[in-house]
Amino acid sequence: MSEIKWPYANEFGKEENIECDVLVLGGGMAGCFAAIAAARRGLKVVVVEKGAVKRSGAAGTGVDHWESACTNPCSKVTAKEIAEAYVDEQDHLSNGIAHYICCEEGWDRLADMEEFGGKIRDTEDEFKGAEFRDEATKLMFAYDYENKFTLRVWGKTFKPAMHDEMERLGIKICDYTEATSLLTAEAEGKKRGAGAIGMNVHTGKITVFHAKSTVLAMSRPARLWLFNPDLTGLCEFRPMQSIGSGHSMGWRAGMEFTMMEKSVRAEFSAAGSSFPPYSTGNNHNTWYAATMVDSRGVEIPYLDRDGNILKTVSERYHPVKGQKFFLKGGVIDEPKYEYRGPETMPFDELMKRGYKLPFYADLSRMPEEERRVIWGMMIGNEGKTKVPVLDYYENRGFDPAKHAMQVYGTGWTSASFSDDERQLFGAPGGIMHDWDLKTNIEGIYASGDQLFGSDCAGFAAATGYYAGRKSAEWAKNESLIDYDRSQVDEEIERLYAPMYVEKGYGWKELNFALAKCMKNYCGAIKNEALLLQGLDLLKSYREEVVPQLSASNPHDLMRTHEVLDIMDVAEMVMESCRLRKSSSKTLCFTRSDYPEMDPAEDHHFITIRRENGKIVRGDVELDYFGDLKTEYEKHNQDYIEGGRK
Ligand SMILES: Cc1cc2nc3c(=O)[nH]c(=O)nc-3n(C[C@H](O)[C@H](O)[C@H](O)COP(=O)(O)OP(=O)(O)OC[C@H]3O[C@@H](n4cnc5c(N)ncnc54)[C@H](O)[C@@H]3O)c2cc1C
Repeated sequence: MSEIKWPYANEFGKEENIECDVLVLGGGMAGCFAAIAAARRGLKVVVVEKGAVKRSGAAGTGVDHWESACTNPCSKVTAKEIAEAYVDEQDHLSNGIAHYICCEEGWDRLADMEEFGGKIRDTEDEFKGAEFRDEATKLMFAYDYENKFTLRVWGKTFKPAMHDEMERLGIKICDYTEATSLLTAEAEGKKRGAGAIGMNVHTGKITVFHAKSTVLAMSRPARLWLFNPDLTGLCEFRPMQSIGSGHSMGWRAGMEFTMMEKSVRAEFSAAGSSFPPYSTGNNHNTWYAATMVDSRGVEIPYLDRDGNILKTVSERYHPVKGQKFFLKGGVIDEPKYEYRGPETMPFDELMKRGYKLPFYADLSRMPEEERRVIWGMMIGNEGKTKVPVLDYYENRGFDPAKHAMQVYGTGWTSASFSDDERQLFGAPGGIMHDWDLKTNIEGIYASGDQLFGSDCAGFAAATGYYAGRKSAEWAKNESLIDYDRSQVDEEIERLYAPMYVEKGYGWKELNFALAKCMKNYCGAIKNEALLLQGLDLLKSYREEVVPQLSASNPHDLMRTHEVLDIMDVAEMVMESCRLRKSSSKTLCFTRSDYPEMDPAEDHHFITIRRENGKIVRGDVELDYFGDLKTEYEKHNQDYIEGGRK
């Protein structure tokens, strides 16, 4: 077989320098909005994106709903009510600041999106008269039809619209460039961000980005426990290229994180163990509240929060009498009583009552517009479903008005994972920050899925914009700070090293080994001995395997860098697990050597950072953010009075 010619220029050894006021790393939902906010304030903005901004990130191919847009014109709840409910729901081990920003500003970003050309209303009247549609505004709602704070949206129109707006605003977009490390300097005895280093993933060219302020928007870690070398693209829920580089570079720079000990049993993933998300019969998120039947075609009942059987489809979308609202979608898996919405009868109860597996989602039994909104609008706009599910299934003859879709496993998800196969999912840990979304490093801000307790597109959009405007305000009064050139030289050496190794290990082998290490030593049950063994194994990988990693082109090299980043995140996770010396139900964290669940003395945030190779712990009280509404208003008068732009 003839060797394939690399289609791009060879720019190894070339270096470019770019200066800007605000540097945004990651051009997903959060990064794009951060850039737009800073550019609207007249600053010179650069976005560094590993893929192509037009379609990159978790929302690149779409989202089907926009959560917690509490200030939309039809909403019957306040930002305070919903943000506080989220915090309460997670026993206060939750990101109150970011949730409040999401609830208060999420609608503003959706309105922006419409201005950019994104579709947020049923302008063609496809669903005229449907219960979930507001006739005056043509907005459409999901889940709680009474309170109307989660919208159904045409998310596949969003990223191209944002991209065009960014071009219009003159934002410099560096596509196909992976950010690899942060540049830092010292100012007045404090560590301060000075920009970042990036590598072009087509050509190998290095770019040094020198910036006054930096916004991190590179999503959350993945491929830590789950990795299948034969099905790489299906390994995790989020896009293949988002594996926690932002966490890794923060960790290397001394950034503070919290809740990194939290991991959940893998669920919304594939990794070869399950079907892709939302491609099978389901009753969650996109598929809420599909009619479910058993193998005989007998309908499976939905119950209200008090256990009463609901008689109509419409009742599945309303709070029970005496309940103000319910929470659904995103991370709300087992809601507390106050926030519990309608759900199908529990699996054990169904078995006791003689319901027969397999189960199916049967949209043909739903009112026509409810069927069309799930199969059609939502499946047509959800992250990974438009082409592989909607188009493909329909081309193969699936007709939701006639056919039912099978549910796999014993529950409602499409997955069958062991308890040791875990994921950073369900509002996981991430970067610790203050009311400006500023990290512990001066001039560096964080947003979206990089924040601790993150969850959804509205959260990413709102926190991205917020971080963008706060970083811009800061940058306005600062000048570029000099950094030590040795940081660049050492980074180039690290980045290029695998290109000089012939016939070494490939990135997939190390990723697979890391995933095994995490399953074996940081699985469902942790203890000190296991964690130390895991860290020891990581050390041996660093010493023995990393110098032998080999890459043959810039793309392969990027994948190799990703695995090095995954290794940093694995270290951070295991060290975080060591710091919490008790177990916690909320954090899905069990230690056999400290089995006591959620003791009062540990019910707070534990932060972690690395300084001169040593782990530094911090303890931060719950609700460190104060009263959410009061503090938000204190920190954002300019935004409130300035037309919310
Ligand atoms: C399949 C799926 C369906 C979803 N559906 C919904 C939904 O319906 N409603 C909802 O509210 N939420 C949904 N979500 C969640 C939501 O999409 C995300 O929470 C949100 O988009 C996160 O935005 P972000 O900007 O933080 O991260 P992302 O959008 O993932 O953006 C991160 C960006 O950083 C880039 N990047 C990563 N590493 C680097 C690096 N080293 N250098 C440069 N760039 C880098 C990535 O390429 C990516 O473009 C869904 C997620 C998925 C995966």
